[in-house]
Amino acid sequence: MKNRKKLICPLCGKAYSEPPATSRTDNSTLICPDCGTKQALSIFGLSIEEQEKIIETIHKSKT
Ligand SMILES: [Zn+2]
Repeated sequence: MKNRKKLICPLCGKAYSEPPATSRTDNSTLICPDCGTKQALSIFGLSIEEQEKIIETIHKSKT
C-alpha cells in the first residue's frame, strides 16, 4: 500500500492520490490527473464528450 496524501482537485472537487498535474491556465494550481488530461486534450480542440471518452479509456486500461 502506498501512503500518499490525498489532494483535492480545485476543478472537479475530487479527492485523488495520484501525482498531481499542473493547471495549464495558470501553471501553478495543482489539479487531478483527469483534469490535467482534459486540459491537455482541449488544446487539440476535442469536445468535452471526446475528452470524457478518452478519460474513460485511460481508467479502463489501468485495471
Ligand atoms: Zn479534477
